[in-house]
Amino acid sequence: MTTPLGRDIDASDIAASLIESYAGRDGAQLLEPVIRREFPGRVAVVSSFGTETAVLLALVADIDPSVPVIFLDTGKHFEETLEYRDQLVAELGLRDVRSVAPDWSQLFTRDPDGALWRRDPDACCFLRKVLPLRQALAGFDAWITGRKRYQGGVRWDLPPFEAVDGKVKINPLAGWSLDRVEAAFAARQLAQHPLLAEGYFSVGCEPCTKPVAPGADLRAGRWAGVAKTECGIHFGGSAPGC
Ligand code: SF4
Repeated sequence: MTTPLGRDIDASDIAASLIESYAGRDGAQLLEPVIRREFPGRVAVVSSFGTETAVLLALVADIDPSVPVIFLDTGKHFEETLEYRDQLVAELGLRDVRSVAPDWSQLFTRDPDGALWRRDPDACCFLRKVLPLRQALAGFDAWITGRKRYQGGVRWDLPPFEAVDGKVKINPLAGWSLDRVEAAFAARQLAQHPLLAEGYFSVGCEPCTKPVAPGADLRAGRWAGVAKTECGIHFGGSAPGC
């Protein structure tokens, strides 16, 4: 990463410094200085437009609705997710939502029947999510996610700032509870993802998402029956890792 003055600095050092500078802050209190002061014009939000997405997007829209929002349009989403994306964009006034598609020539070669998700979900996520995101984030120094510790798995010790592939990743809701998320939905009267009412507590691509029973792990419906819990976009390095 290079500073405006042309000095090369390490994303890990920046993340460590930001953790110290913004200790005790989260949500809007953390997002505002990140967007306005730390990475002006150099930060994007990455959103799946899933069941909890609206809270983060509303906080960002309050600060600056022109912050770029990247949506990985894998070609495998539920139609309801695409409609929900359009609804939230309109309701929140987001002005720069970028729906990023995979490289169709690569899909034609490596996933000609569209069933790679069944044979090799890691490879499918790599083609449809990891590679497109890598390209979409070129030119940004930092990106914002809506991940939280209560979502479990590898997220249980999520820090507010981390470094991945030379960029700073910001998790302003890392320490939020589910109650706080639900309170934010209510306070802002935010629209819910239409599949939530059908038991989809976490929504990803249609072939890899199932509804779960009340009280079950929130992400239990993602890649159910497969030893996989993350798509790979949150892991660094050149390996798929998803
Ligand atoms: Fe493919 Fe499933 Fe990953 Fe979507 S979630 S990119 S369909 S493996």
